[in-house]
Amino acid sequence: MSHYVCKGDCATVSEQPGICNTEVCANKGQAFEMCECADGGHGKTATA
Ligand SMILES: [Zn+2]
Ligand SMILES: [Zn+2]
Repeated sequence: MSHYVCKGDCATVSEQPGICNTEVCANKGQAFEMCECADGGHGKTATA
């Protein structure tokens, strides 16, 4: 199921496209990125 996540510090998850509005977030003012993960990991499983 697709959703939208902020890649910044706030790690906001939204069901709809949007802009991060968290004051302390490094990505404030940037659009959420679409994500289709099913496990809630938001694609953070990439190998280092
Ligand atoms: Zn954010
Ligand atoms: Zn995700």
